[in-house]
Amino acid sequence: MNPPADPAAKMQREPSARLREIPSVDELLARPRLVALAEGAGRSTVTQSARTVLADLREQLKLDSSSASLDGVAIETRIVNHVEALLAPSLVRVINATGVILHTNLGRAPLSAAAAAEIASSATRYSNLEYDMSSGERGKRDVHTSRLLAQLVGAESAIVVNNNAAAVFLVLNTLAKAAEVIVSRGELIEIGDGFRIPDIMAESGAVLREVGTTNRTRIRDYERACNERTRLLLRVHPSNFRITGFTERPTLDELTALGRRLQVPVYEDLGSGCLADLAANGINEPVARASGDAGVEVVSFSGDKLLGGPQAGVIAGKREFVERIRRNPLFRALRVDKLTIAALEVTLKCYLRGALDEIPALRMIRASADEIARRAQGFSDRLRESLGKNALVEIRPGFSVVGGGSTPDQQLPTQLISISSARHTADSLEARLRKPASGPAVVARIEDDRLTLDLRTVFPDEDAALAAALVSALS
Ligand SMILES: *Cc1c(COP(=O)(O)O)cnc(C)c1O
Repeated sequence: MNPPADPAAKMQREPSARLREIPSVDELLARPRLVALAEGAGRSTVTQSARTVLADLREQLKLDSSSASLDGVAIETRIVNHVEALLAPSLVRVINATGVILHTNLGRAPLSAAAAAEIASSATRYSNLEYDMSSGERGKRDVHTSRLLAQLVGAESAIVVNNNAAAVFLVLNTLAKAAEVIVSRGELIEIGDGFRIPDIMAESGAVLREVGTTNRTRIRDYERACNERTRLLLRVHPSNFRITGFTERPTLDELTALGRRLQVPVYEDLGSGCLADLAANGINEPVARASGDAGVEVVSFSGDKLLGGPQAGVIAGKREFVERIRRNPLFRALRVDKLTIAALEVTLKCYLRGALDEIPALRMIRASADEIARRAQGFSDRLRESLGKNALVEIRPGFSVVGGGSTPDQQLPTQLISISSARHTADSLEARLRKPASGPAVVARIEDDRLTLDLRTVFPDEDAALAAALVSALS
């Protein structure tokens, strides 16, 4: 039997021959299309992409010498595509038709136009960020938001850091490093993206002392666990889940009474940071003010959850504790920038003025099901006209959710627009809306095998773009 020609030897010869055919970077960069590209994209960017593409090409040839085209135009096109992919917008606007108001993946709270304008003005000009205008001397960035927050929360003092995760870390690190913190087992939560209370606590240097069981913790459990190493009683808002049924946990009043008796401060991680009572809108979240009223020494909460402002973490409470936290050297590493301060200041003033509807997230929460029903009706009528027999458009009752790890069991009644088509499955429609040929992308949900839209989270001035996206996806 004749042995077959050694394929490995053949593969090794051929690629090296073809490798020599690859044009040089300089040759490629002299091609008119790449010269033109370099004018807009920058010569070094195009050079870098050319090197990357040629390196990929060499690898490809080594694996399979016949697979890659060495034609100048083909290589040039690969370089153009590489540069375009690099420069394509990455963080892009999205129409949120999911009905999840504080959608963590879609950027949580959208800011008001006034907050955005204030960001633009502070971003593009100088400001008195850390400059005392009356004395002409160095000031503190805290002043722009501290008083507003203290007043809204009913606290003696308040500071702001990058987010609530940073706030939790800083509070624990300042008040309980190398000491014990008592927390109920039912509150040892994971919020998502790796934020776990036990992990944060370990990193902060505080030692976790778990008490009670997952579903039941009594005040006696806290009391028995207290010892000379205890520095803090921690209460965590169980943001994104609820334990129901046979459950028990002490009231905040019981916890603060115990803290006072044993001279151990109580810290409450509120999670969402609700500053206005939304009970009339069906949202039963504790307002931040209630914590101070109950005697909690320190609270912290997010700026971009129910508060409806920029990403931030607020730490508020008794002056002596807040000042100690402010003096922690790590505060400097976790502080917020001027853009956050600008947006937060404007948002907080909406609360002071009682202008809740100027805050988009609150406007969406406070929109009634009737208001949404009227919009959904008008929207579907216009959509049916544009679509003809291409699709079935129906309105049906459903629920919006607050999201952002807040109020998992509290839903807002809404009217959903439900769309089905004989030509496209719900999955393919949903995918087409995410990757439109033009206009903003739309994120929708699928319910009962139908594309489902909730106008509660769609800004009224986005209706036309949403309709256009639907017409295009259904074509
Ligand atoms: C959301 C949340 C956090 C984290 O807040 P971020 O602002 O997202 O960092 C911490 N604790 C609780 C209870 C939360 O709900």
